[in-house]
Amino acid sequence: MSTNVWDEFLRIRDELLKIRKENLRFEGDKFKRKNWSKLSTVEKSNQVNAFIDFMIKELNITNKPTWSFSTSLGKDVAGAYYPLRNKIIIAESLLCKKSGKELALTIGHELRHAYQRQLYLNSENLKKVSGRYTTAENRILYYINNPKHEPATEWGRNMFISYISEGPGYWKQPVEKDAHAYEADLSEMLFGQNFRKEINKKLKKIRNKYLNFQKNKRGG
Ligand SMILES: [Zn+2]
Repeated sequence: MSTNVWDEFLRIRDELLKIRKENLRFEGDKFKRKNWSKLSTVEKSNQVNAFIDFMIKELNITNKPTWSFSTSLGKDVAGAYYPLRNKIIIAESLLCKKSGKELALTIGHELRHAYQRQLYLNSENLKKVSGRYTTAENRILYYINNPKHEPATEWGRNMFISYISEGPGYWKQPVEKDAHAYEADLSEMLFGQNFRKEINKKLKKIRNKYLNFQKNKRGG
């Protein structure tokens, strides 16, 4: 009897995972060149809205960030997230590309920052609460909000206090390490490929150039 219940649980879990995978692929297809390039600007904008709603559910974000397109981000900046205002900015130029993949991944990346912020704020609240009420529920919620030894606390400090927006330090900080790892996973789930890999390779080259430049400066 108990084996049957367990088998049933596994069956349902696999079924849900399959549906989730299919939904992600379905959303990803809309951003592929063959479909994306046919859309008008208004249709693209609607698609972005729908995708943001989809990703908010996917990431379990309860406090939906506001968002807008902008033409005033730096030349190579695809998006930005402002944790104090819970606001996402996306480079408008991404709408003009033939494929929408970079746009979709940028949305995923910035929403991941909103998710990090949410985990941080939730865990801070629970910390306050659990000082007085050390119930099992609070403890469980605390661990759910702090997977892998409290990254949420580290994320919060990084995001609100010590964020680095450019230079090699950008890649090493906890919130960006996590957001870029998430982006790579998301790319596999949406498109079945790591779309950013090529872009990141290029960025690494620039980074190495910068480091060499620093070294030479020090040496000379
Ligand atoms: Zn980021």
